[in-house]
Amino acid sequence: MSASTQPDCIFCRIVAGEAHSHPVHEDDDVLAFMDIQPVEPGHTLIIPKHHYENLLESTPEAMAAVARVSVPLARALREVFSPDGIFVAQTNGVAAGQTVFHYHLHLIPRWHGSRVQLHGRRLADPEELAAHAVRIRAALRGGEDAIETESVQD
Ligand code: 5GP
Ligand code: ZN
Repeated sequence: MSASTQPDCIFCRIVAGEAHSHPVHEDDDVLAFMDIQPVEPGHTLIIPKHHYENLLESTPEAMAAVARVSVPLARALREVFSPDGIFVAQTNGVAAGQTVFHYHLHLIPRWHGSRVQLHGRRLADPEELAAHAVRIRAALRGGEDAIETESVQD
């Protein structure tokens, strides 16, 4: 799957290394990184490197690559944050709440009593995001189902 870049797309710019992110996993097809405005600590996004506007524009192969990463990443979030649950969400179109038009899957740790919401209210402290990414990367490397990942760092 080749990465197709849309110059105005912030996620394409992150894939290309032109915009900063706190990545936790990278392989040939997929990048996962911390959401800049998390609903809860550990809120992570998984994207195909190739630009697809959303599910409707994507391919089964690209979605399979995203799904493959979602399993070890969810387990890493469980290990690091000990949430009561993990909310998986994905938006297609403005009416569905989509604000970035490059496919992304949200993994959001949740605790009993936390409000169901898709968008956080404030930008996260970058140092906190960096620290979370370090711990998630370590959990991904050390987990029972460690996945092949390039050695991403902030
Ligand atoms: P959507 O509403 O499209 O489902 O979600 C877009 C998500 O992307 C939001 O949770 C938002 O906080 C996140 N986001 C937007 N811009 C950036 C960015 O530049 N970097 C990162 N890491 N996340 C972003
Ligand atoms: Zn894009």
